Amino acid sequence: MAESLSIQMRGLVDQNTIVHAGLVGGGRVPRPGETSLAHRGVLFLDELPEFDQRSLEVLRQPLEDKIVTISRAAGTLTFPANFQLVAAMNPCPCGYYGDPTKECSCAPSMVTRYQKRISGPLLDRIDIHIEVPRVPYEKLTGERVGEPSSVVSARVQAARERQHTRFASHDAVISNSRVVCNADTRSGPPTCVCSASSIRRDNH
Ligand SMILES: [Zn+2]
Repeated sequence: MAESLSIQMRGLVDQNTIVHAGLVGGGRVPRPGETSLAHRGVLFLDELPEFDQRSLEVLRQPLEDKIVTISRAAGTLTFPANFQLVAAMNPCPCGYYGDPTKECSCAPSMVTRYQKRISGPLLDRIDIHIEVPRVPYEKLTGERVGEPSSVVSARVQAARERQHTRFASHDAVISNSRVVCNADTRSGPPTCVCSASSIRRDNH
């Protein structure tokens, strides 16, 4: 159980210091990049549009195949890269586009150009997109205490245990690829986990 909860956070990869090879791997003697170092963990890319567009497009392979393949004259190397991508971006260069209280100072063409830096195919591979509005200062500094992390952690652990039980038989089917979360089930026959007939039965 503890194994499936050990999430490694490759935190705050900085677009100013990272280069193409640093993100996906590479070099004369190929070395793993951040995508492989975040294997079985979370890769957080802050200020996503500020990253080199070529590097961002290369992310499409590991997001799809969970591996990174690097070809050199001497041969081809494959690194594991099964990570959960979390990314953040501003709505425009000044950060206020759509803000209810402060006006955006960017020209419309700048806003469009900025948002287009993330290609459609890459956006398609990010399952959940959430707009996070600005939180007023009074709310941030208020007395209201939210749910403690320990409670959230217990809820996540309970969900992980249910998944572990659900995927127990699935593990045996897919050799060399232990199923940890729902996203991993794409690597095997989905009927092991959820067949169309069982969905029909549940709905009636
Ligand atoms: Zn703006």
